[in-house]
Amino acid sequence: MSARVGFIGLGNMGRPMASNLCRKGFAVIVHDVNQEPVDHLRQLGAGCAAGCREIAENSDIVMTMLPDSAAVESVALAPDGVLAHLNPRGLFMDMSTIDPLLTDRLAAAAAVKDIDFVDAPVGRLASHAARGESLFMVGASDAAFARVKPLLDAMGTTIHHCGAAGTGIRTKLVNNYLAIVSCAFNAEAIALSQRFGLSLEKTLDVIHGTTATNGQLKIAWASKVFKGDTDPGFTIDLAHKDLTLIVNAANAAKVPMPIGAAARESFSAARVSGEGTRDFSAMADVLCDAARIPRPRL
Ligand code: NAD
Repeated sequence: MSARVGFIGLGNMGRPMASNLCRKGFAVIVHDVNQEPVDHLRQLGAGCAAGCREIAENSDIVMTMLPDSAAVESVALAPDGVLAHLNPRGLFMDMSTIDPLLTDRLAAAAAVKDIDFVDAPVGRLASHAARGESLFMVGASDAAFARVKPLLDAMGTTIHHCGAAGTGIRTKLVNNYLAIVSCAFNAEAIALSQRFGLSLEKTLDVIHGTTATNGQLKIAWASKVFKGDTDPGFTIDLAHKDLTLIVNAANAAKVPMPIGAAARESFSAARVSGEGTRDFSAMADVLCDAARIPRPRL
């Protein structure tokens, strides 16, 4: 008999994800505090529950896709919540983006009851979820991963098993740090281009052909700092000089560059610690040294 699946949280992400499970033949029972998406899932054949307790009592696997830590904590840990009422040998998978310390508490609370725990936050957008093309970063034991893999395959195209419980949400935070900070500094760069009166098309043509958008992580660092090679290359001193030119030119043109100024000071600090003549990819080593953690090597 295939697993009975409970799904709590039918918002922009959860609704299309649960819909895909229904369309692909899983036996799904759903709950949301908002009735409208529940009615939609009912039309796709899902069962509907009045609350988290009913979901837990009628499921082998319970999944949550909720907005934040507070919602996950109440749904999972309240006296009427999932973990209090899911059977031993059940499985609880949280796919929300939440505080990793709460993820650790959920894993510990599940373990006490002999319930498998999986954290599987989602990469990509609601439009991908609608097409069943989500990316999942999964923290789970091998056995728990095997139990949820068919469900993840029904909702996504790219499934990364990152390690034990808690590694999925931490990978998600690393991913979103890059995705969101790059949004801010890309905005600074495009504003500067506009202020300089440059052609947007030509500027994009140029930056798409260099590491500006091809990525330090994917292209430049793979053959430099990640291999332990920090011989220059393009030095930290030169990068600091260029960032100073850029921030000064932007300020002269009345374009604020808060991310650029902060980044310039990171290079400034690296020069003070005597690393100015190393390749600029060595910024990764400089920060890891300062935090007394191992240097990143592939
Ligand atoms: P959302 O706000 O659209 O949906 C959350 C749903 O949870 C709503 O339907 C809400 O009614 C329901 N809900 C809230 N509290 C509840 C409770 N106590 N019991 C039952 N239902 C409850 O949020 P979303 O965009 O679907 O995002 C969900 C999670 O996925 C978030 O953690 C978000 O950061 C993450 N995420 C979102 C996207 C995206 O593009 N929207 C992409 C990747 C990850």
